[in-house]
Amino acid sequence: MSKFKGKKVLIVGCGSSGVASAKFLVKQGARVMITDMKQRTELAEPLKVLGDLKVEFEFGGHTERSFMGAEMIIVSPGVNVAHHQLLQAVKAKGTHVTSEIELAVGELEQPLIAITGTNGKSTVTTLIGELFKADQKPAFVGGNLGTPLIEYVTEGQAGQVAVCELSSAQLELTEKMVPAVAVFTNIDQDHLDRYGTMENYINAKKRLLKVCDRNSWVVLNHDDDVVRGFANECNGKIIWFTMDDPMKKGGEFAEKFFGAYYDSSKNTIVTKLTGKDEVYTLEQFKLFGDHNKQNLMASICAARVMGVSQQAIQNCINQFKGLPHRLEYVRKKDGVYFFNDSKATNIQSVQASLNAFKRSPIILIAGGKDKNMDFAPLAQIVHSKVKLLILVGEAKEKINRALGDFAETYLVGTFEEAVLMSFQKSRNGDIILLSPGCSSQDMFRDFEERGEYFKKLVNQL
Ligand code: ADP
Repeated sequence: MSKFKGKKVLIVGCGSSGVASAKFLVKQGARVMITDMKQRTELAEPLKVLGDLKVEFEFGGHTERSFMGAEMIIVSPGVNVAHHQLLQAVKAKGTHVTSEIELAVGELEQPLIAITGTNGKSTVTTLIGELFKADQKPAFVGGNLGTPLIEYVTEGQAGQVAVCELSSAQLELTEKMVPAVAVFTNIDQDHLDRYGTMENYINAKKRLLKVCDRNSWVVLNHDDDVVRGFANECNGKIIWFTMDDPMKKGGEFAEKFFGAYYDSSKNTIVTKLTGKDEVYTLEQFKLFGDHNKQNLMASICAARVMGVSQQAIQNCINQFKGLPHRLEYVRKKDGVYFFNDSKATNIQSVQASLNAFKRSPIILIAGGKDKNMDFAPLAQIVHSKVKLLILVGEAKEKINRALGDFAETYLVGTFEEAVLMSFQKSRNGDIILLSPGCSSQDMFRDFEERGEYFKKLVNQL
């Protein structure tokens, strides 16, 4: 009999992970209630997915009664437990407060490859999935990206491995999962509107490190100061990736190097994972920028230690096309190149995109909803690469204060104006890059809607 049978479970948040958790728990015989601050009318989509599933609802706010009466509470990543009075109260009285991810991992029958970091999660998660598929090994790919892990569990777990992107918010309640592989792409300022300090943000990411045991492979970015430091607190088997030949660093790091590095002289990735060097050529790799070479190295390391063949890896490198909205080429019009990087919602991702272009000038469209970010670290690169900065959205004045002195800057009222002005002021050979450095919710539903709209406007020019 299922351990959930008859259990009173409260799900806080009627988003995709909440809905997927409800489906799993009802199937297991639990008595499920979903509570959400939103009104029923705002939740038409998730409610449609639930159909006539036997679930109780509480909309337009939370009541103490529903929290106090629950034996177990599943909290959606959008809800900040640390600042939630009712959740703090039930935790104090000993109620099990957990997440969809923990619920799913408890039922997962296959190895888990978990990916986190500030940037590159979705790219790495997708790439790892593609690497397995290139080797005829079915893999679930999801988590923060796409399908919730619990949905995969509910539907019978047909893959050989689960590749799961985990955001800091999803990791906050992580306690029991033991990943076969944990990947840390990088750490830079992000979500400071939720965490207040970098320390709190890093601690959330670190939960994935803490749950690794001595059998877990832990893939770490040696070029990232914060992630490199994770090695000191790591129980697992460390795999490094770096853009530099480790031999140049010398010493013990070079001698004992285990992982992958980029050989810029040959445009290859070399791995030391199997007792001998393996070399992958990037001649046909289509993604721009050093950051994508880092993403590729992280993905190769994770896949290779989990048994994906060398040949399959090379085939996948040659074929992988990348994801939309991540430094995506849109079109060339009158000699001007347009790129959509709508997913760049923080400083590091904008930096990575600007760095990816070896030649300037770039016309950068930035702005959106601020996440309590400090834009000053972009000053130098804006100064050296950006010919024109076009700012839009809620954060435009703040960005202007930080960066306005470093490039010719215009503040515009609408997104349409931003695109039109960028084109009007461009010259033959310019690059027009939408890389907002902010989230999208001041003007759009999400980064996808923003990116699609940008592409539509660009294609109408
Ligand atoms: P995430 O899922 O962590 O948001 P994505 O792969 O969706 O990561 O990429 C988000 C943004 O970050 C895009 O603008 C992309 O170009 C940029 N990016 C991707 N990988 C990296 C990386 N390794 N370092 C810095 N920026 C990156």
